[in-house]
Amino acid sequence: MSELTSLSLAAARDGLAKKDFSAVELADAHLLAIEKARALNAYVLETPERALAMAKASDARIHAGKAGALEGIPLAVKDMFCTEGVRTTACSKILENFVPTYDSTVTQHLWRDGAVMLGKTNNDEFAMGSANETSYLGTVTSPWRRKGSNVALTPGGSSGGSAAAVAAHLCLGATGTDTGGSIRQPAAFTGTVGIKPTYGRVSRWGIVAFASSLDQAGPFARTVRDTAILLRSMAGHDPKDTTCTDKPVPDYELAVGKSIKGLRVGIPKEYRLDGMPAEIEKIWEQGREWLKASGAELVDVSLPHTQYALPAYYIVAPAEASSNLARYDGVRYGVRVPGKDITEMYEKTRADGFGAEVRRRIMIGTYVLSAGYYDAYYLRAQQVRTLIKRDFETCFANGVDMMLTPATPSAAFGVGEKGKADPVEMYLNDVFTVTVNMAGLPGIAVPAGLDAQGLPLGLQLIGRPFDEETLFSAAHVIEKAAGHFTAKAWW
Ligand code: GLN
Repeated sequence: MSELTSLSLAAARDGLAKKDFSAVELADAHLLAIEKARALNAYVLETPERALAMAKASDARIHAGKAGALEGIPLAVKDMFCTEGVRTTACSKILENFVPTYDSTVTQHLWRDGAVMLGKTNNDEFAMGSANETSYLGTVTSPWRRKGSNVALTPGGSSGGSAAAVAAHLCLGATGTDTGGSIRQPAAFTGTVGIKPTYGRVSRWGIVAFASSLDQAGPFARTVRDTAILLRSMAGHDPKDTTCTDKPVPDYELAVGKSIKGLRVGIPKEYRLDGMPAEIEKIWEQGREWLKASGAELVDVSLPHTQYALPAYYIVAPAEASSNLARYDGVRYGVRVPGKDITEMYEKTRADGFGAEVRRRIMIGTYVLSAGYYDAYYLRAQQVRTLIKRDFETCFANGVDMMLTPATPSAAFGVGEKGKADPVEMYLNDVFTVTVNMAGLPGIAVPAGLDAQGLPLGLQLIGRPFDEETLFSAAHVIEKAAGHFTAKAWW
């Protein structure tokens, strides 16, 4: 890891502005690091020529005194975001050769502000998964290892490539999408910071759709400040996404370092699960202590419908996925397998183009939406969703400013270790994160310590709608107390 790749995004921004180094030097250092770290499979596409051309343009703008907020900052983009002229696959065979003719709104914002694209990062196929194991382009290996062990660990998923790239210093920040935890869980597994903003804060336009009422994009970085800087650029009104708000985007960086004195932090008792590792309970308690020591007031709260969030999510998300993925029919995009007539062509194309987990979700989704089952499953799940949302609203109405919970029920597990016999074993990873998507709230995962095996553990803060600022302030308190965690390079 070179000095330039170890900088925080904020430090790199300031160094570039002072001309301590150039954007081309910064891009070069990262491109070299990426080349050396191919064993991680974090990137599914490297774009070195584009990176250097963008960096050169950044240097010119810096010299002309016209630098943007992210001028010259090398970033990685999850392969769920459309990038103009750059292959975008959602890590699915069915989009194997898809080259979009436009950029997503999020990536447009990043390039508008001067960021440099290093490449596209790996993810679970169509962002369905929690270990980056369903990707058509191969599993991602975490830069982290257990003490004294060479067992390959998962970086989490679905944004496993982005999390691994940030943790291994292969970029200064990355984009992710989070439908049920795909930013926060990999952030927790890799000792990085990840925020899922309020539903509607960031435009979904040009992002491959999974479950449209839950999907939200957000950043990964190595510090809270860096995620705040990135979110400011990613967020903002977009008439092309009718669910995207026109509320002004605050300067989130100003919230970093702001006192949390007097704020009330809810501790939901339903997040204390039977059989949860003692270390998770311990880190949660540690987090409570840190917030209290900074002047926050802790309050025990109840979110009584929490236990129904996971089952309801695994009805709503597949239902929306089955509808969204209907467009991959072999006519307009990617793979096409010929058949004797158009119906057989559809069937063969979709059977061949989608992986096992995606096919499972489409079948579940189609089933719960079908006549006769719609009321029993889909409608029920939507009603449960309202109750989950109401649980949070009641707490916020009673003066709670945010919640503190563990981000995941365990530290990172081994590649291939979970969900083989029973997919539900994998789904259980999302137990602390899906509630936040179901309620449309903002949630941030911040590293809080290492477990006995030397693996990172994360805490989650959940905020009121559009109050990402409070999350940045409180996450920074935890970060200051916990410190930063870096994986030892073995790759
Ligand atoms: N792991 C969850 C799932 O498989 C969430 C994925 C996500 O947030 N994209 O659905």
